[in-house]
Amino acid sequence: MCLTFDSITDQKRPVRILAAFLQKRHLPHALLFTGIEGVGKNDAALAFAMACNCMGEKHRRSDQLIDNSSSKKDLPAAVNPCGYCRSCRKIESDNHPDIIRIKPSGAFIKIDQIRGCCDTLAMKPYEARVRVVIISDAHAMNPSAGNALLKMLEEPPDSSILILTACQTSDLLPTIVSRCQHIRFNPVSVKSIETLLIENQGLAPDKASIIAAMANGSISRAFAMSSSNWINRRNWLINAVGPNQSDQSGQPWALFSMSSGMLMAFAEMLKKNKDFLFDSLEIMKSWLRDLIIYNFHTEKIINKDLIEKIQYASQKINIKALLLKIDAIQAAQKDIQSNANLRLTLETMMMRIGKGSGKPKPLTK
Ligand SMILES: [Zn+2]
Repeated sequence: MCLTFDSITDQKRPVRILAAFLQKRHLPHALLFTGIEGVGKNDAALAFAMACNCMGEKHRRSDQLIDNSSSKKDLPAAVNPCGYCRSCRKIESDNHPDIIRIKPSGAFIKIDQIRGCCDTLAMKPYEARVRVVIISDAHAMNPSAGNALLKMLEEPPDSSILILTACQTSDLLPTIVSRCQHIRFNPVSVKSIETLLIENQGLAPDKASIIAAMANGSISRAFAMSSSNWINRRNWLINAVGPNQSDQSGQPWALFSMSSGMLMAFAEMLKKNKDFLFDSLEIMKSWLRDLIIYNFHTEKIINKDLIEKIQYASQKINIKALLLKIDAIQAAQKDIQSNANLRLTLETMMMRIGKGSGKPKPLTK
């Protein structure tokens, strides 16, 4: 399926705003798309570049730029790029000479990348009606690159549009934000991600449901999770957290019954697998949360495939103890975000998680 505005999931408002620019034939000089990673900002930027330059039948007849025929998703057909003409295909495959894409090279977008772009913009486009510069992860611009971009925004070149993408406006210089038309992209719904995982990635419904619930509204994150051994790691972690029915020592706890030496070793293991640390903490939180939720809203649990295990485990620990453990993980996540010492943070978290499981007691609804 080729890229059009209709293939962008769950972003009705941003798409409506972009479509309005095209319908009114009033294109802003600079757009800023904000939102978390993986919600369709880059696809929307490409679809917009395609729509601005589409040579398809409907786009050639400028008198039909506003099409009243009812299209599938309330978007006039003439606003959507055709996806098949030479221009659309070149843009989608990243082979169009006038669609310039700038991404961080290493950790930063460097001044040379922005200067190179300025030089190109000083010349006439090769073939595009509208030249489009897409600066992805604009928050990665170092200060000198940011200032060079600012100059470009102050004197916008003719028939060119700049599209910046970033997580949030506060990551950019206010002077850059104020010169852009800002469009916010929302996280994608769990339901939509679940459908995409089943239909596009061929995932089994129970796996799709767990990954969708854990992807934090990001399609790219969900796809990455589905293609890695995320589910296996989840199973391992949940087993480690426990409690497990099959514990041979007769002690139902896993993590909660470990000696402090073992807790420290677990912290070290989390620290070593740094790439998976964010996921590990989220998985541990989702598990502890499920043990609470099971007693009240069984239908809302995340790890649905482990329902029997949850049923068993939820009877073995009281809610107050679970809440304290979740709190310990959240505190650690906050500290990690503010660059606290990782080893110390994880060790403190593990000591708090390992401390007291609360007396198992029956829960009343
Ligand atoms: Zn086209």
